[in-house]
Amino acid sequence: MGYKQRVVFLHREIMEIKLGRKLKEDEVVHHIDNNKQNNDVGNLIVMNKREHLSLHNAGVPKPKPIGWKPKNTLSVKKVNMIKKLLLDGLNNSEIARKIKVSDYTVGRYKKKFEEFKK
Ligand SMILES: [Zn+2]
Repeated sequence: MGYKQRVVFLHREIMEIKLGRKLKEDEVVHHIDNNKQNNDVGNLIVMNKREHLSLHNAGVPKPKPIGWKPKNTLSVKKVNMIKKLLLDGLNNSEIARKIKVSDYTVGRYKKKFEEFKK
């Protein structure tokens, strides 16, 4: 158990000190401002796992990790085109040229489809 483990659970430790007892299995410590670095006692609240999940699903955006970038995902239309052209027997670079994506992208989706077929 190293440094990292302690950082991850620091907010739980802080809450346990505040409550004067150990947290239960079902209790989650939530960061009110959604900033997981902010372990100020006033920023922490205890809730059960179900409440916590519904809170996050209610549209409170999860903080993105530092350096997070949206994935380059293709539109459904393009994905379906790749699928169709693969079935038509075109190779990666032919498909890439047709729908203006990189060979790499086509290769990635090709792999996905093959896994899906298994
Ligand atoms: Zn939370």
